[in-house]
Amino acid sequence: MTLSKPPWDYAPAPESMKVDIAPEHGLFIDGAFRVARSGRMFATINPATEEPLSEVAEADAADVNDAVVAARKALKGWRKLPALERAKYLYRIARRIQERARELAVLETMDNGKPIRETRDEDVPLAAAHFFHHAGWCDKLRYALPTSTGADPQPIGVCAQVIPWNFPLLMAAWKIAPALACGNTVVLKPAETTPLTALRLAEILQEVDLPRGVVNIVTGAGATGRDLVQHADVDKVAFTGSTDVGRAIATAVAGTSKRLTLELGGKSPNIIFADAPIDQAVEGIVSAIWVNQGQVCCAGSRLLVEECIVDEVIDKLRHRMQSLRVGNPLDKNTDVGAINSRAQLERIEGFIRAGVSEGASHHEVSGATLPSRGFWCRPCFFTGVQPSHTIAREEIFGPVLAVMTFRTPEEAVVRANNTMYGLSAGIWTSSGSKAYEIARQIKAGVIWCNTFNQFDAAAPFGGYRESGFGREGGRAGLAAYLA
Ligand code: NAD
Ligand code: MN
Repeated sequence: MTLSKPPWDYAPAPESMKVDIAPEHGLFIDGAFRVARSGRMFATINPATEEPLSEVAEADAADVNDAVVAARKALKGWRKLPALERAKYLYRIARRIQERARELAVLETMDNGKPIRETRDEDVPLAAAHFFHHAGWCDKLRYALPTSTGADPQPIGVCAQVIPWNFPLLMAAWKIAPALACGNTVVLKPAETTPLTALRLAEILQEVDLPRGVVNIVTGAGATGRDLVQHADVDKVAFTGSTDVGRAIATAVAGTSKRLTLELGGKSPNIIFADAPIDQAVEGIVSAIWVNQGQVCCAGSRLLVEECIVDEVIDKLRHRMQSLRVGNPLDKNTDVGAINSRAQLERIEGFIRAGVSEGASHHEVSGATLPSRGFWCRPCFFTGVQPSHTIAREEIFGPVLAVMTFRTPEEAVVRANNTMYGLSAGIWTSSGSKAYEIARQIKAGVIWCNTFNQFDAAAPFGGYRESGFGREGGRAGLAAYLA
């Protein structure tokens, strides 16, 4: 297959950047925005331009304490509120997210670097869907998780929630919606590179008159997160982020009465059998590894292809990869935007160098000119990968795919499970019985068949082994927020 650049190109189709961003953002505590006691601020930038977007307050231990005190005070009234009244608040939040969807999508794209097509069609609608879904659960908790007396199950209390930068608004929704539905109150800490949409969500909480203190948002980096999860008056810690930090949090929480759920990293297999619809599977490989620049915990970053079709799959994948448009995330034609931070880009580049030096072959999008400023990584895949290679074992969290082969279904299962993680997996085959049999043997929390990276508020999401424990979404997700 020859890969020449088409003689024509698309005209740019940029989304309007008209979204108001205040030059400074305070902490959201007890229903109001206020400056940090520390007086310290930090900048959040647009990773596609390296331009600063706003200064954000950095919460110290005293600020975190204020937020926990507010959440504790609010708990009494909130948990006693009739369930249907709680539901109305969640419903209003969902509607308001829909009404302000364009603004949230543009803001998310500017703060995070991901394409507007994704924030507009995935992140923001899914965030609204999580609030809608959980609005419906508020008065049905006794059916979701029946208690021995038939009484309503009780909330855990004050929840400390720490989230990462890859799906900033969506992760805030995943954390806040079930917690509130179950009658808990919340202190949430967004990631330091992407605090703006969570703070915009705080505005929405004000607009819908959510009782003050029910949700508090403290911004800052790792130290703020540490102050929050170690606070003595927190009843539950919910963390999404890297396995290393998850381990540190598990250690900090051990020996206390705090409940804990962890959503951590992954190195998920995407398995293509020879009887799969190949063109569909190639689309599935694209969405498994190149959505959100590959900065997805459940990304299908290990491609396992049945040996007899590997040449065909690689040819088609190379062709399809070459069609990906890398660049301005606010352009509606863009498929792959900016990497979230310089630090993350350097980490990814280190993995690519390791792949090359350990002997795998690197194939990347060629020809495209990348913007001169910002953090960019061309989508790529490696062939000739051995299971012992660094790029086959470690989570890269970038647009880098490791391709390996297998000969038999048994070998596919062994290779798929050859990881310390267990977050997701994809299986591509026309045979229903084969899909079922393979899925049964794979140790992963989420398994997709003939698709990848599909999310639904009703479907539980979570991991095994080093990918963490606890589920988010659906009935299973409620269990993590009930005593
Ligand atoms: P990270 O663990 O460095 O940071 C995540 C969050 O934790 C941030 O808000 C950060 O400020 C905070 N934090 C850092 N140190 C802390 C500490 N000692 N105590 C408390 N909080 C602390 O991860 P990241 O670089 O922001 O995100 C990338 C990682 O997150 C990847 O490994 C990815 O797989 C994982 N992730 C997992 C899921 C999931 O659902 N399983 C979802 C998204 C991301
Ligand atoms: Mn940012």
